[in-house]
Amino acid sequence: MAEALLERENTVFTGGQWKTGRGPERLEVIDPSTGNVLSRVQAGGAEDVEKAAKAAMRAFDGWKRTSGARRAEYLRGFARGLQSRKTILVRVQMHNNGKPRIEAEIDVDDAIATFDYYATLAEGLDANQDARVDHAGGAHVGLVRQEPVGPVGMIVPWNFPLVTSAWKIAPALAAGCTAVMKTSEMTPLNELVYGDIAIEIGLPAGVLNIVTGGAEVGIALSRAPQFRKISFTGSNMIGAKVMEAVSPRCLPVSLELGGKSPIVVTADADIDTAVDCIMGGVFFNAGQMCSATSRLIVDKSIEPELIEALTERTRALAVGSPFEDGTEMGPLTTSAQCHKVLWMIEEAKSDGLDCITGGGAFDRDGHFVKPTIFRDVPHDHTIWRDEIFGPVLATTTVSSDEEAIAVANDTNYGLVGSVVSGDWSRAKAVADRIEAGQIWINTPQIVYPDSAWGGFKQSGIGRELGPWGLSGYLGVKHILSRA
Ligand code: NAD
Repeated sequence: MAEALLERENTVFTGGQWKTGRGPERLEVIDPSTGNVLSRVQAGGAEDVEKAAKAAMRAFDGWKRTSGARRAEYLRGFARGLQSRKTILVRVQMHNNGKPRIEAEIDVDDAIATFDYYATLAEGLDANQDARVDHAGGAHVGLVRQEPVGPVGMIVPWNFPLVTSAWKIAPALAAGCTAVMKTSEMTPLNELVYGDIAIEIGLPAGVLNIVTGGAEVGIALSRAPQFRKISFTGSNMIGAKVMEAVSPRCLPVSLELGGKSPIVVTADADIDTAVDCIMGGVFFNAGQMCSATSRLIVDKSIEPELIEALTERTRALAVGSPFEDGTEMGPLTTSAQCHKVLWMIEEAKSDGLDCITGGGAFDRDGHFVKPTIFRDVPHDHTIWRDEIFGPVLATTTVSSDEEAIAVANDTNYGLVGSVVSGDWSRAKAVADRIEAGQIWINTPQIVYPDSAWGGFKQSGIGRELGPWGLSGYLGVKHILSRA
């Protein structure tokens, strides 16, 4: 039962052992469906980060020299450990994130698939070491190796806790890096299973360390001298602070940041497919997605028909606690996020924007926001330009695909995009020109472990998932000798 995870005394995992956090805070774990406290856990502090970073440093040499095949066995052990705890993990996410069951299940399955995928890539590393290069003229021979960058500090947010952490831990460990991960103070429970599994599978002490806590822990982590890379997922504002903290040491960082992504619907699109893609893109996880396609750009000729169908389906969306039958969209995970979203909605209404459905909170306890659509939003308005991180869609019309592309790209972000069209070639031509790291055509958002994940422009630096996720934790070494 979930209760086992909810009652955690020790939330710091360093050097292969659970310890009581030494931070100043006791974190309240909230159920967003009620606003009630589910549990209280002791946060870690800067002292725990120092211990964890030193443990990761000590473990690095041994882990680096462990074969890829052996590392793969541990990664498969993580996948099996997650699988055997699936029921608990799903329930904790329903309780603490407010995710409907199906969404919580998708997250666990995604984390499992990620560990399995990187297990295979870890095995492949053994065969690809010391690739020979015959240099011009034949006087010299080169050998090219890929080596892990070193101990890595990882910071993750609260919206997909199991997934974002798996996307970092699995490739890092596959590459031969050791890691210290800081979980989000809002959802501190789920990722603790990685420590339990590490003990269960006999992972060498210090290879993976976890420090639960808030900003103080993140700051200590981004300043710890032991790390040779920092991998961050979260907001642009904090991403910039992490870069600043790391910059005196000139270390590599990878940043998975925010978005304000477009969904383009061309004149020949199938209306039902468009409605499915639009709703999945902005109401899944109650819109708390870096990849939310929250700007709908639709051809004028089909806008009335599309808006009518979309509004009808949006009004019928079952919003409720994940534990209520038939719930399709849950509450927002944190009260702060709920207040921010409601404030943005109120500002937009007071600026005279046309709110065609939703537009406020439900009259019940918990952090429930109505799925909201603003029609014909001016392109200089906050609702059009800024990440909201909630179930709020802004729409606009265009007269051509060319105009749609221009409007789609008129943003500082470049994380994802969607295109819905009756003609694949037409959709592909639009997709080719949208400036973003991942585009979906005629499908709701699906992410495979062998996809690439990351953004252009201000949506971040680097890519997670796929071979690109692995190479983010590897450096290239060239050894040259006489032939
Ligand atoms: P956030 O930036 O507020 O927090 C992210 C993490 O940083 C948390 O663990 C937090 O405790 C920590 N942190 C806070 N202050 C810090 C500091 N000064 N130094 C170091 N760490 C610090 O983000 P959030 O509210 O948890 O998550 C929402 C944001 O994350 C959104 O902007 C969303 O777009 C983004 N996100 C991006 C992706 C992606 O893959 N691109 C995925 C999920 C979320």
